[in-house]
Amino acid sequence: MSLPEGIQRRTFDGRESLATRGPQVSEEAVVDGWRRWDPGRSKVAAMFERGLDHGLAGGERVLYLGAASGTTVSHVADFAGPTYAVEFAPRPTRDLIEVAADRERLFPLLKDARKPETYAHVVEPVEVLVQDVATRGQAEVALANRQFLEPDGRLLLAIKARSEDVTADPETVFEEVSATLESGYEILDRARLEPYHGDHLGVVATPRQ
Ligand code: SAM
Repeated sequence: MSLPEGIQRRTFDGRESLATRGPQVSEEAVVDGWRRWDPGRSKVAAMFERGLDHGLAGGERVLYLGAASGTTVSHVADFAGPTYAVEFAPRPTRDLIEVAADRERLFPLLKDARKPETYAHVVEPVEVLVQDVATRGQAEVALANRQFLEPDGRLLLAIKARSEDVTADPETVFEEVSATLESGYEILDRARLEPYHGDHLGVVATPRQ
């Protein structure tokens, strides 16, 4: 699977890794301006490493749900176009705002992804919707935000089984979440994110017409 423009495989301390080019965010290794993108700390990087059929070329407009302190969305904004980053917890959002300070394409929004009407006036239609909220009702959040996605756009969704039900078999949870998701999306590809993230499923989908 080819990588979007703006993501490369670079060598850090003799080991090859995904990397994007942009201002350093924390302690990640940087070589010739390329920042190591650790799939163990990022479900999106894990999706690339697991070879999901992402359909991204680079430069797309992105809505990112569950931005936390900006670790992954900083890399996304390095290779994407305008990137709207939604996070509802104030503490990580403070870090996210700092990450955005030297990224002109990254727009942090202190908002609840279950209430898209509160940011619908700010977010333009996007080609890519990324979701990593790790809360109950992950399919419902993706369905509520489908309105922002262009008809041939892509949803990159990380489903955390334990966020839906800590006791259930993860495969059962993935089937249930996928079934709900399919009321509004056609699933194009899916893969477990091990060894990078236990009991997570990566899903690529497009809006059902
Ligand atoms: N995507 C981040 C990264 O890779 O850098 C990690 C995200 S962490 C697993 C999940 C985040 O989703 C948390 O910061 C949590 O506060 C946020 N979140 C959960 N439910 C949310 C909601 N309804 N609206 C916005 N953010 C939410």
